[in-house]
Amino acid sequence: MNAGKVWLVGVGPGDAELMTLKAARVLGEADVWLVDDLVGDDVLALARADARLVRVGKRGGCRSTPQSFINRLMLRHARQGRRVARVKGGDAMLFGRGGEEAAWLRAAGIEVEVVNGLTAGMLAATAIGVPLTHRDCCRGVAFVTAHAQDGGEPDWAALARSGLTLAIYMGMKRLDRIRDGLMAGGLPATTPVAVVQSASTPNQQQLLTTLAQLPAQALAAGLGSPAIVLVGDVVALSSLAEWPDGLSRAA
Ligand code: SAH
Repeated sequence: MNAGKVWLVGVGPGDAELMTLKAARVLGEADVWLVDDLVGDDVLALARADARLVRVGKRGGCRSTPQSFINRLMLRHARQGRRVARVKGGDAMLFGRGGEEAAWLRAAGIEVEVVNGLTAGMLAATAIGVPLTHRDCCRGVAFVTAHAQDGGEPDWAALARSGLTLAIYMGMKRLDRIRDGLMAGGLPATTPVAVVQSASTPNQQQLLTTLAQLPAQALAAGLGSPAIVLVGDVVALSSLAEWPDGLSRAA
């Protein structure tokens, strides 16, 4: 029997049209799909009629599939000669545990290939007309999680001083900490901030605000996960019209 293989396929955070042609081809050829949360029905529609679809999401700590179980499932199917698609929202290697899974599979002797997807931080910016790295405003962009595996936090003060646009993932339960940490690090209270929930999906919602007002405004708008918090002067370049008082649109 031929050895199977696992593809770690990023399908982007929403709109299936934003997937790569390679991702669509690999998914169309896969015998087995192991699918995370946040993967939409229009992506699932690419599966062959006889493909086996297994949902292994682990949304917000509730009904979760242990990582060891997912690993064993991938291994078993690959050893049986199947083409396994491990399907993840966004990019598999950005906050998607793709690195752990790839290392584990390779150590077990299984061939692994990564197919990139667009990450939510990029889609969130585009969804509200923000150029992530406009050279008038910043030197680059940092993709940051507010929720580290060890329960710790990023060094908000260092990020505040970095001169980078921040695209913050998994931050909606820590908006106070984000605001306090970044302001303690020296970012002005008036720093433009955007929250984009469910970017590029029909449920997309967004908020433009300031760093100081971020927690209260996000609560008032009823925003929650999955969302990206964008912080930095580029946010003032947003093409959206709905600017709050006290925050002026950049020219
Ligand atoms: N691998 C994914 C990230 C997974 S971590 C990627 O590259 O995009 C899950 C976090 O991603 C969520 O908490 C949220 O911060 C972000 N996210 C995923 N889909 C999103 C979407 N459609 N809109 C906004 N944020 C999203």
